[in-house]
Amino acid sequence: MRFSRLMSAMLMAMAIVAQTAAGQNAQPVQTPQPAAAPKITRLILLGTQGGPRVNADRAQSANVLIVNGTPYLVDAGNGVARQLSLAHVPLPSIHQIFITHNHDDHNADWGTLMGLAWTLGNTQPITVYGPRGTESMRQGFLRYFAPNAAAHYLEGAANVRPETMIKAHDIAAPGLIYRDANIRVTAHENCHYHFSKGTPGYHWQQSFALRFDTPDRVIVFSGDTGPCGNALADFAKGADILVHEVIDVPAIEAILRRPTPGLDTSPARIAALMTHMITEHSTPQEVGKTASQAGVRMVVLSHLIPGAPTEPDSGYVDGVKEFYSGPVVVGRDLLEF
Ligand SMILES: [Zn+2]
Ligand SMILES: [Zn+2]
Repeated sequence: MRFSRLMSAMLMAMAIVAQTAAGQNAQPVQTPQPAAAPKITRLILLGTQGGPRVNADRAQSANVLIVNGTPYLVDAGNGVARQLSLAHVPLPSIHQIFITHNHDDHNADWGTLMGLAWTLGNTQPITVYGPRGTESMRQGFLRYFAPNAAAHYLEGAANVRPETMIKAHDIAAPGLIYRDANIRVTAHENCHYHFSKGTPGYHWQQSFALRFDTPDRVIVFSGDTGPCGNALADFAKGADILVHEVIDVPAIEAILRRPTPGLDTSPARIAALMTHMITEHSTPQEVGKTASQAGVRMVVLSHLIPGAPTEPDSGYVDGVKEFYSGPVVVGRDLLEF
């Protein structure tokens, strides 16, 4: 792609030089434009909202990579089946799902998606790869789904048991977690969780950045993460696209402090939430530092917190650009790269 664009620019420059040299009466030189090669890998942002806030403008976290026509889902927040439909990705074509971590804005709907595929008549396995706890979620979902499944059996409309189609795989350790003819998927533990030693979450809860190497692109998802030293930059080294989470700290703090009927807005809870926001998510400046250090070709900001429709893009982009000189795009649902 880059080479053809470069060649095209060179041919055009040569044509202009030839035209000038031949004088003003010369006929313009027609330069054939090489057709752009079709992309092997497409990235579509399905949901760009960060956190549990549900709103009308952004769906919760989800992305789909389509490589040689095969879709791979990355995170599956609430409403992911509907978002796939809006992106014209047929639900029965999904067979591999990757989950960065087990917060519900990322994992709420993979079970629902698989259940819908089963009810539609899908018979091929769908596998979700996620951190520890993913297999136990599968077992819980199968129980949740059982009355519906039984009803379909009784009607004679299903010929495969849900448990033979709905599969889960706990990622035992960072590293290569999946490969096929299209992609290699590598996981790296990021810096979202900070459970201290001796607490139940320590070493049990894990959150991953995911790297997808395809025949024509490298796409890295930061997952939810706070500042991570050199680790994330090393992991994303040379990526074509870094899809990075981002938080506007003053904006989310103003929203959290606003009295809201039905919500606990006590100072103690707000203080705990703000500690989470600051240490377990990334400011635009922190994103810029990582992107610059990694030397990625493009930054796509997603998982926006607060992600309010009234926020100007500059609130997210300007801080990234303080440290990173490449292109920065504020993600929107259904945007394709
Ligand atoms: Zn999240
Ligand atoms: Zn999270």
